[in-house]
Amino acid sequence: MEDYPRDLLELEARFSTEAACREYLFALRWPEGFRCPRCGNQKAWPVSEMLWECASCHRQLSVTAGTIFQDSRLSLTLWFRAAWWVTSQKNGVSAMGLQRGLGLKSYKTAWAMLHKLRRAMVRPGRDRLQGRVEADEAFVGGEEGVHGRQTETKAMIAVAVEEDGEGIGRIRMRRRKASCRSSRTR
Ligand SMILES: [Zn+2]
Repeated sequence: MEDYPRDLLELEARFSTEAACREYLFALRWPEGFRCPRCGNQKAWPVSEMLWECASCHRQLSVTAGTIFQDSRLSLTLWFRAAWWVTSQKNGVSAMGLQRGLGLKSYKTAWAMLHKLRRAMVRPGRDRLQGRVEADEAFVGGEEGVHGRQTETKAMIAVAVEEDGEGIGRIRMRRRKASCRSSRTR
């Protein structure tokens, strides 16, 4: 079974709290449970909501380290919505569109978020992830107002976790198209 929300409602339901977003990022970073990148120990305790400390060597690791969410004052729930928004709009997104879509007060904030998200997106054939890559298809934005066979065309964001020795390097998202057999091909 695919494990990602199919639309905004599912996204809202699944990632309605900071804790839910954090758990998701934790699972991306450590799919088989915590493992210290320095000593390999598998026991850790939480220091704060974001921070975990290795029980053996006491190295501290943030769930968001190396991601576009790192050091952001904005909530993860907002970031997840922005990611969904940016990748589910068929004709691209402007900072103003993002601002309106998310109900943000500040255009500057919307612009900065959009800029970061765009940088994080994988462009086809470019920016290949290096090292051992964990990929997780996270979100789906179906095309609204289209029914029948055409609904098979959907845009997916793959969130990839790039390991760089510190756990994860970047979280990347991309829009993917999956077409059904009956759809027109060229
Ligand atoms: Zn350790």
